Amino acid sequence: MAAPIGDDCEHLRVVWDRESRAQVIVAVHDTRLGPAHGGIRRWTYQDAAAAQQDAVALARAMTWKCALAEVPAGGGKAVIVDRPDLDREAAYRVAGRVVEELGGAFYTGPDVNTTAADLRVVAAETRFVATDADDGPGDLAAATADGVLHALTALADRLETPLDRLRCLVQGLGVVGFGLCERLARRGASLLVCDIVPERVAAAVRQFGAREVAADEALTTAADVFAPCALGGAITAEVARSLPVRGVCGAANNVFADAAAAQVAHSRGLLVVPDFVANAGALIQGALWNLQQVRVEPQRLERIGRTVAELLERAAVDDRPPAEIALALARERVESAGGAS
Ligand code: NAD
Repeated sequence: MAAPIGDDCEHLRVVWDRESRAQVIVAVHDTRLGPAHGGIRRWTYQDAAAAQQDAVALARAMTWKCALAEVPAGGGKAVIVDRPDLDREAAYRVAGRVVEELGGAFYTGPDVNTTAADLRVVAAETRFVATDADDGPGDLAAATADGVLHALTALADRLETPLDRLRCLVQGLGVVGFGLCERLARRGASLLVCDIVPERVAAAVRQFGAREVAADEALTTAADVFAPCALGGAITAEVARSLPVRGVCGAANNVFADAAAAQVAHSRGLLVVPDFVANAGALIQGALWNLQQVRVEPQRLERIGRTVAELLERAAVDDRPPAEIALALARERVESAGGAS
């Protein structure tokens, strides 16, 4: 008999609410390092199994991300299955009630298609959610941009090119990408930027002296480092074969379309910083606020840079992709916290 979906999770809750037409899935993957953390994703899926598999995969990735970020937290994720007849507000209320029922085993927050307004609805039902309230953890996107800057600095060291001589192509000028440009410009880096929203590109050109790159030329334009801050999946194996950069480091999750694409990049000698290490700033700031009510000091995020330096060093010695080393290290940390699963 096939194993059930999520058999490596501590809990998998699948809830159907007839009134709102909401199917809510909450996967709590592992809490051996601490209460699970993960946002709420609202997305359309082909079927119920695909939605559950996505929730489980995302929750698992959060476990490894927490372990590498050295926060006392574990991995979880909530998914609301989007559908044309969904009562959105009621669906977020259902999600909030499921989170509350877990009694603090799972803390949630934003993810794809979940806005600050949605989270305020969730917060009416549960204590275990981060919102944009004044008494909250602070600016999480800024923490992500800070973390990516530390990761990029470690990568630049490895490439033996100081930031003030680095050409960095930033794809996506949203809250994180724009903030990253601001930080890189302050350190003297040369910026190449692209976005599908022309006003954002114009602002980066004006404010940081960045050079505009057409959105469809982002993966064929030469730079030292490609910093993906838009959506994942951009680098296929074919793109990886010719991507004209020496390193990749950004905030976007799963920028490589699959393992084959990541392997092609590695075999070409590209230094690829694992996304789940580089983009952990918001998690660190949010989790430490939830669990210890502390606002992180900026120095706390510098640890991301140290982790990246260590991973790139071990990857060079072992001739393995840094993401492989990162996953092995994360598993070690989780298993040594509470015995093998
Ligand atoms: P955002 O939605 O504010 O910004 C994304 C930007 O990418 C937008 O400006 C959008 O127009 C642009 N974009 C979309 N498709 C594009 C394309 N094909 N080419 C160029 N630009 C394109 O998102 P964000 O919060 O800045 O996050 C950026 C990435 O980092 C996302 O993948 C997100 O999942 C990830 N991430 C964000 C955080 C956080 O704290 N916000 C934390 C971890 C990971």
